[in-house]
Amino acid sequence: MRAEILSIGTELLLGDIVNTNAQYLSRRLAELGVYVYFQTVVGDNPERILEAYAHAYGRADLVVISGGLGPTEDDLTKETAASYFGRTMVDHPEIWEPIRRYYEKRGTAPIENARKQAAFPEGAVILPNPAGTAPGCWIEDQGRYMAMMPGPPREMIPMFEEQVIPRLKPHLSQTFQSRLLRVCGTGESNVEEALRHLITGQSNPTVATYAKEGEVHVRITARADTEEAAEILLIPAVEECREALGELVYGQGNTSLEESIYLLLRQRNLTMAVAESLTGGLLTGRLVNVPGMSACLLEGLVPYTNQAKIRQLGIEPDKLEAFGAVSSEMAAAMARRVAEISGAAIGLAVTGWAGPSKDPAEPAGLIWMGLHLAGETLTRRISFGGDRNRIRFFAANMALCWLLR
Ligand code: ATP
Ligand code: MG
Repeated sequence: MRAEILSIGTELLLGDIVNTNAQYLSRRLAELGVYVYFQTVVGDNPERILEAYAHAYGRADLVVISGGLGPTEDDLTKETAASYFGRTMVDHPEIWEPIRRYYEKRGTAPIENARKQAAFPEGAVILPNPAGTAPGCWIEDQGRYMAMMPGPPREMIPMFEEQVIPRLKPHLSQTFQSRLLRVCGTGESNVEEALRHLITGQSNPTVATYAKEGEVHVRITARADTEEAAEILLIPAVEECREALGELVYGQGNTSLEESIYLLLRQRNLTMAVAESLTGGLLTGRLVNVPGMSACLLEGLVPYTNQAKIRQLGIEPDKLEAFGAVSSEMAAAMARRVAEISGAAIGLAVTGWAGPSKDPAEPAGLIWMGLHLAGETLTRRISFGGDRNRIRFFAANMALCWLLR
């Protein structure tokens, strides 16, 4: 099967955004054994979109499109597909109703244009979009296929994984089984190094690493004539990867870092509390993302200034003076005190310099973390480069990784 990826959006041509959708789709299609021969980018212009369709559909069995499904005038993907295939646009009231309710709930009256999100070329299969308003669609014509998906990656990726791939499977020459291992606390190059013998030596199963925000994903994919045969190839490869990565692996599949923490705390019947200076609530924010977290997370404090550390945590002023706010001693004291004050089994603390800094005594990116657990307090020093947001994000992320170890 030959495929072409078509990314629609003027902002891509202007360099305002990076075409991460094309990268994602290329990687996944390659893993599925589909040959991607062209990647095309076209702006929000009906004549040029039509031209791109004619080229793509003329030379590929599958055209995978992202972008231009939204409510605005310049969202033209489906309308242009309808004219390319000589089909009419059909309104779907059953699709419109939930979209209308969504706008109503948000307190914004549905703009008349929004209705076009519920219109599709005649005969298209509608692909629901649980992550947003605009559904996608799938058209079969002359034995070839066109998939249209929304532009935002958080909507496009699940639609591709859950709705497009199953439609492709019957047309693939072999079947594929894959597993995702999730790694945190180290960079992609370290993960690659640890897995080098598995990545380079093998073509089936394949092992590929993907750098994500604050973590690395390892996808192991096996292909065979039947699902069972692929599974038999896959299992030992997953085990080998797990062994090579050791405790760097924190989980598998869709479970996030914070969800893994939640599951661990519930399983061991533990509670925790957080004191975060540098991260200013980010760490607590990540944890409370998980439904049910109130059963484990008792509180999160943000004692940002020295005064606040003294008042909220009862830190001794002379110790603060002697060691400084960013020190092993303070990270330990913050972790221990927040556990004592809240009555939680675990206290986790982060303190550091977010920068930018001209003072060598306050180097940007220097971070101390403290962990109080079972009467013992551990500390760990880490450092990162980058701007304030990056440093704060990575500090919160590292603290969460550390907790899982
Ligand atoms: P919406 O309903 O949000 O308007 P849409 O399907 O109309 O969705 P676009 O308007 O084309 O999609 O793009 C919306 C946003 O999605 C863009 O501003 C951008 O942030 C992101 N996006 C679009 N295309 C891509 C792409 N190829 N790669 C990465 N991000 C993209
Ligand atoms: Mg749009």
